[in-house]
Amino acid sequence: RNVLHWFRSKDVRQEDNRALHAASQKVKEGKGVLLTMYLYSPRDLEWHGTSPARSDFLLESLRILRSQLHDKDIPLAIVPVEERGQKTEAVLSFARENDISHVFANFEYEVDELRRDLKVARHLHDEQDVSVELLHDQTVVEPGAIKTGSGGPAKVFTPYHKSWLAELANDPSLLDLVPPPDGNDKKAVEKYNHLSEGELPKLPENKQFKDEDEKKKIRELWPAGHDAGMKRLEEFLNRIGDYAATRSQPAHDSTSRLSPYFSSGILSIREVLARTKQHNKNANFDSSGDAGVAAWVRELVFREFYRQITCIIPHNSMNLPQNLKFDNVQWEDDEEGWKKWCSGTTGVPFVDAGMRQINAEAWMHNRLRMNVSSYLTCNLLIDYRRGERFFAEHLVDWDLSNNTQGWEPSYTVFNPVSQAEKNDPDGEYIRKWVPELKDVKGKAVFAPHARLSKAEFEKLGYPAPHVDFAETKARATARFKTDLANA
Ligand code: FAD
Repeated sequence: RNVLHWFRSKDVRQEDNRALHAASQKVKEGKGVLLTMYLYSPRDLEWHGTSPARSDFLLESLRILRSQLHDKDIPLAIVPVEERGQKTEAVLSFARENDISHVFANFEYEVDELRRDLKVARHLHDEQDVSVELLHDQTVVEPGAIKTGSGGPAKVFTPYHKSWLAELANDPSLLDLVPPPDGNDKKAVEKYNHLSEGELPKLPENKQFKDEDEKKKIRELWPAGHDAGMKRLEEFLNRIGDYAATRSQPAHDSTSRLSPYFSSGILSIREVLARTKQHNKNANFDSSGDAGVAAWVRELVFREFYRQITCIIPHNSMNLPQNLKFDNVQWEDDEEGWKKWCSGTTGVPFVDAGMRQINAEAWMHNRLRMNVSSYLTCNLLIDYRRGERFFAEHLVDWDLSNNTQGWEPSYTVFNPVSQAEKNDPDGEYIRKWVPELKDVKGKAVFAPHARLSKAEFEKLGYPAPHVDFAETKARATARFKTDLANA
């Protein structure tokens, strides 16, 4: 009988793919062939609000992967599933029709996905005597493995980071890579070749780009596939030395822009870190080595930490805040504020610049993500889940763990004027994204309504602030205090 690797939207690659490798090894024990499958569900794209940019990026990456696997005579079947509830049946039929004895897949840690896997595994086992193996692939250190002194999983980042670095220093094999799968025997696989033939599915109407120009621009910004991702990594490693000093300054654009490759598993985190270590002359990733490398790896450790939190606080992937008391907050129903936030016309230049970047590039610099989220939830006092959803609907790199945890509500209110003065000191980023302000001189660009004369301001054609910062900061603090106390 044959062996199946089931790709999901977090492991779209053949390189250093743990479950795919295990499946390939399993084939060697028997007489069968290796088949692969991806369930394509337009309803899932709806459910998660997946953006056109991410939907297209995923599909393009699947197209590239299918052709790479085709060169090795490994079929990749892209199986359409109409309704979300039909996935179990889709896997069961595939296994039945293709004489599968073993199914391999990599863990997805969100509640719905874990439930789906349990259900599929139970049916496959009970009805078809098929065994299912799930492997950890998304992180270097398995979620849950880093513990506190008292034995529970770590929930605080700083000690987690310290332990993570120690784990890796003690056990460099954590970065060992597994090889891509071996090819199938041409003859043996012949009768399954039809599985990977045919056109790729079309994206639903509302997941398409506005027009060809937008499609071209986004594809240029985010070229699909593993090789494009590795090329981007190489370009980034040549300038990683500047990362520590400039990573918070959006005008420098000095971060890696690798996030979509990580969130779709197009790059393996181990492959990236192994290559980074080599570039770093094998030094450890702590502060004793290159500062840029240490600062970058710290961000990747955030990504690992957030996966650990997703596992240990399951309600976080079910539309609830980690701190459940925040679910008691009475949010404001400010439709005008919401529309202004979405379109980057709040009258706060730093916030508007960030929102215009996401609308244009399907990506936003981290410093801006922090500012626009704080502005939406604290100053506009709009439910953070609307912002979370907007990000999903626009980002090319949407990732449930990073997004929900980035949006976790808190008492911290960012001041977007002082944030801009500190992180965009020349106003370059603001002027790039808010062209109404491109000729505004000096510090007025950070708060034109307050810093220019009435006549000068009116000439710009730029809106006055939708809300007053100090007043709304005080409102949020008071609201959170009362509503959390009553929770
Ligand atoms: P780099 O600075 O080059 O960092 C390298 C990698 O580390 C990133 O690609 C990412 O995988 C990881 N990383 C970096 N910063 C963070 C962070 N703060 N938290 C967790 N991982 C991080 N990231 C997503 O990948 N998808 C999201 O949907 C997402 N939503 C966010 C929402 C909010 C409100 C906030 C504040 C942050 C969010 N982030 C998200 C985290 C971060 O902003 C992006 O990962 C980062 O901006 C991507 O750019 P980069 O690849 O150039 O990052």
